[in-house]
Amino acid sequence: MFNFDFYNPTQILFGQGQSAAIGQLVPLGARVLMTYGGGSIRKNGVYDEVRGALAGHTVIEFGGIETNPSYETLMEAVALVKQEKIDFLLAVGGGSVIDGTKFIAAAALYKGEPWELLENNGKTIEAALPFATVLTLPATGSEMNGSAVITREATREKRWFASRKVYPVFSVLDPSTTFTLPLRQVGNGVIEAFAHVMEQYLTYPVNSALQDRFAEGILQTLIEEGPRALANPDDYDVRANVMLSATLAMNGLIGAGVPQDWSAHAIGHQLTSLYELDHAQTMAILLPSMMRVRRDAKRARLLQYAARIWNLDGGDENGRIEGAIVRTEFFIRHMGLKTSLADYGLDHGSIEAVLTALEAHGMTAMGEQRDVTLEVSRKVLEMSL
Ligand code: NAP
Repeated sequence: MFNFDFYNPTQILFGQGQSAAIGQLVPLGARVLMTYGGGSIRKNGVYDEVRGALAGHTVIEFGGIETNPSYETLMEAVALVKQEKIDFLLAVGGGSVIDGTKFIAAAALYKGEPWELLENNGKTIEAALPFATVLTLPATGSEMNGSAVITREATREKRWFASRKVYPVFSVLDPSTTFTLPLRQVGNGVIEAFAHVMEQYLTYPVNSALQDRFAEGILQTLIEEGPRALANPDDYDVRANVMLSATLAMNGLIGAGVPQDWSAHAIGHQLTSLYELDHAQTMAILLPSMMRVRRDAKRARLLQYAARIWNLDGGDENGRIEGAIVRTEFFIRHMGLKTSLADYGLDHGSIEAVLTALEAHGMTAMGEQRDVTLEVSRKVLEMSL
């Protein structure tokens, strides 16, 4: 196992009715900016619940943060924060609202041009406004980590930043808020969380017995509970298990002391920014091809994945690995996602565009061994056609 420095200060309030505690947790006298997305919280009662819990606080609202939050929209919120002298932010929604709020929190106190935070992946963040979240879509883990992904519409660039300064102070995770999710977002969330685990698990062995079991536990829970969430959308316990899985997939715990890949994510971000595919849709396309193309580099872990997740432990090694990949594809499709670029009308031309974007951003030596070159990315994309 590698040395590690694990940090996670976010308080989690998990369960039905937990948003009632928000009023006590937000500092007394704070001027609060409540951020949200396109209006789902107004339809499902979450808006009223949160406003009720904030009674007595000064609350200003900023709605309209879009999926794959845009720099341009968020800069409007930064101006509002300055104008209204906001000192606490409350993000209510999915990963896009939470990521966007992290950016607002850091950009509001940043001295330079805020896009620099994305260009240097958050290295120059010295301070951020405190913020909390009310999660309504289990998927990204943003509610318990210090990362965010932001898109600049003007240049169609999707970039990330990470910093210890942008962990939520607290996050409310009430599984009943997810009952109203469209099936597409249920599937997206499960596959997104699955991809997060895979990028931290499917690397090479470092005797990380406990992290492996944590990761495998999350993968197995998602495989079991994901289809149940589609079939029985009102089952609270199923929603609770999916919600906790998605948070633990990306709060740093399973990645502590182990190698991490993230090359599928890097390629996926280009597909999202160029062709507006959902983040999870890109993962559904890329994960199986990445496993096939990097079969030799990841052989030991793929065999462990085949044995422990899919009970394939006899016979020819390549057959077991292919069996595990085929079962993974079946699970992804069962969750309602497609597994090829062609399913979205994309062809060879789009592959060239993605490779150009990867090169422009210096993403030419990715993965746990830095061996995902542009040539490897090309093979993955071609296999994804
Ligand atoms: P999202 O973009 O936040 O939300 C997707 C859609 O679901 C929106 O239309 C939203 O509607 C709707 N929605 C959310 N909660 C709902 C509910 N309870 N009922 C009905 N509809 C609901 O999706 P996401 O997958 O959570 O976030 C995706 C973003 O996160 C991407 O930009 C991705 O790159 C990023 N990401 C971040 C991390 C990280 O660690 N920070 C990791 C992976 C991905 P409204 O807008 O109306 O609310």
